[in-house]
Amino acid sequence: MAERPYIVGNWKMHGTRAMLSEARAMDRAAQRHMKVEVAIAPPYTLIHPIHREAGQIGVGAQNCHFADGGAHTGDISAAMVADAGAKFVILGHSERRADHGESDAVVKAKVEAALEAGLRVILCCGESEKTRDAGRAVQHVKKQIKASLPDLEEAGEKLTIAYEPIWAIGTGKTATVDDIAEMHTEIRALMVDLFGEEQGSVIRILYGGSVKPENASEILTAPEVGGALVGGASLTADSFMSIALAADSPEL
Ligand code: PEP
Repeated sequence: MAERPYIVGNWKMHGTRAMLSEARAMDRAAQRHMKVEVAIAPPYTLIHPIHREAGQIGVGAQNCHFADGGAHTGDISAAMVADAGAKFVILGHSERRADHGESDAVVKAKVEAALEAGLRVILCCGESEKTRDAGRAVQHVKKQIKASLPDLEEAGEKLTIAYEPIWAIGTGKTATVDDIAEMHTEIRALMVDLFGEEQGSVIRILYGGSVKPENASEILTAPEVGGALVGGASLTADSFMSIALAADSPEL
């Protein structure tokens, strides 16, 4: 793995202020694993409190709107989450694509807005079980990434891709290491194609989908895996930081 492994927790719609103690424990533990970049994306309501206290972990949002502001009741802009302390935003998560009908075009507009607001972007992609069974997983994921990315003069540090097979999210099923390696290698080739060798080879590609302390080492050592996007197992400091510990191995 060329860069520091990146371990990101997606808290989804979990967490009230009672969870701040978990974030504090994660922050303390992260100080013992400086070779790993650790970050969490809590619900909007916890971005600012966690940002205010965090010394080591990064804080991000799970979504933002593509517009700067206006009549969008219940939505939040990229500038607003940045103002609350977010340094990155997760975009195109399959739950948002499914629950809110977010198309690739909408995701692309959000990526543009987020970068404009100075946020780093974690762009999610992934295939359904049906698409994988039909042998079209690689083709689908590459098409999805291309359609969700605006023309960028530079991507480098600002962009991370998270490959998350939909059928592996929250199900306890994980892709095989061979399938992960194949997909990540294809995504790496696409990044080099889109951004050139220098930038395309450093964009981090995370794996997400039922990553847990028990399977983290095996997944994180697969070729082109630059870290993990973790849902359920990121809700307690114990399990999340065990994954960070797995990323802090001399083999990576
Ligand atoms: C996710 O929501 O991004 C995710 C990977 O969830 P889980 O780890 O629970 O499968």
